[in-house]
Amino acid sequence: MAIISCPSCQKQISDKASMCMHCDATIGPISKESMESSARVHKIKQAQGIQIQTFLALILFLAGFTIWYWDDKPDEYWFNIIGQGMIAVGFFWYLLNRVRLILLKRS
Ligand SMILES: [Zn+2]
Repeated sequence: MAIISCPSCQKQISDKASMCMHCDATIGPISKESMESSARVHKIKQAQGIQIQTFLALILFLAGFTIWYWDDKPDEYWFNIIGQGMIAVGFFWYLLNRVRLILLKRS
């Protein structure tokens, strides 16, 4: 059993106590359980961010294809360059996000 100081009144209390015996402040926010649950929430938010990026990468990829296969497009080579660039970037971005999501779920 260790002695810590209360975050509210700075008096010495036991680290096992869930409430300060001097000022009745809850020591909950620094408990192991709530730290684990906030880490879990953080992980879910990270996963959601990656999923949004995966979706955007897919849109970029499909938009690249649309430009590339566009029938009436101006006959200028840079249109193909942009289309192919978007396909390449979209494809690698998508793969990168899939890998990040797998690594996140393993950690
Ligand atoms: Zn206190």
